[in-house]
Amino acid sequence: MTRADLTHATGLNRSTVATIVTELESLDLVTVSQPVDTKRVGRPSTVIGPSPRHIAVAVHPDKDAISIGVVAMGGRVLREFRFDVERAPTAVHVVNTLQALVRGLELSEGGTVLGVGIGVPGLVGARDGVVRVAPHLDWHDEPLVQMVAKATGLPTWAANDATCAVVAEGQFGEGIDEDNVVYLNGGAGGIGGGVIVGGQLLSGENGYSGELGHMLVNSDGGLCHCGAVGCLETEVNRDDLLSVVGLGDAESSLLEQRLREAYGEEPAVTALVDRQLDFLGIALRNIVNIFNPGVIVLGGFLGAVRNATGDRLLDSVERAALAGPSSEVRIVSSTLDENVLIGAGELVFRTILRDPTSASVGSPTSAREPEQVAAS
Ligand SMILES: [Zn+2]
Repeated sequence: MTRADLTHATGLNRSTVATIVTELESLDLVTVSQPVDTKRVGRPSTVIGPSPRHIAVAVHPDKDAISIGVVAMGGRVLREFRFDVERAPTAVHVVNTLQALVRGLELSEGGTVLGVGIGVPGLVGARDGVVRVAPHLDWHDEPLVQMVAKATGLPTWAANDATCAVVAEGQFGEGIDEDNVVYLNGGAGGIGGGVIVGGQLLSGENGYSGELGHMLVNSDGGLCHCGAVGCLETEVNRDDLLSVVGLGDAESSLLEQRLREAYGEEPAVTALVDRQLDFLGIALRNIVNIFNPGVIVLGGFLGAVRNATGDRLLDSVERAALAGPSSEVRIVSSTLDENVLIGAGELVFRTILRDPTSASVGSPTSAREPEQVAAS
């Protein structure tokens, strides 16, 4: 933002903004530069941006890979590492991978590593950072935050991966101008969700809220791994879609294109997709009626299905949901790549955004006291 835009956005006077910018610059939290564009009339305003010198290490363990990103403020993934795994990684595997990488980063990056943020495909206790269950990784009661903090010496936070994604979508993606955002992700393992209400992340009593994949959509449906019947993620799933269009597990990036070609043309594909769209429509109807969101962002294969089937999904939600909230909602596909890593990075930056002076203690080589370990 230019200094003039900052003054306008904050409602503070110009000299106060100048003082704050100088202070943040001295903490190395912002960069101040002259704009290149000189075509505008008058003196060019200086541009203030988040500094790339303070970084977070963001981690997303999944059943086919461990993804690790070096994330800067402002939703920027500076570098990304993907470690493919033969079978779902254990928590110890993730910790060891991370430990080796953080050591390497400290030597090579030269910036200040503020901490580690982890997006986990499962239930993460907000109070203790224990992964209660991550079904597709087969993790149960793993004290992940404690393990990573101990191994890396860095403050560590963890949250559900779709929760991380909704934070990223709300700040940098499709929800950027919205106060009420729902994110629904279709992944290899199932469907995850995250909810922002009135600009605040919906956390619940202990961080477990937003499990929209386990919403009942078919009382006559299949048995879910959670023990219930007819959950959204048993009725709407990626593997059935891949198999009906003849794609393998590793070809999921081709799903949208194949669905575009086959939907409405091949009866078996059309029947299966329509069935899944009907159940997804029921879930979206409930979400619209319960949360009155400004936008519902669909990620992963859900975004692919939405894009490949014209207005069918939107029409069914509009018909079924209450007239008031359904007239206000946009239902879109995510365009923010790496939203889990960006959101996991934001878990780390929250502390510094709340109290910028805390940045001065974030040296990568300084040992951390146990009380600085915090869960999200
Ligand atoms: Zn379930």
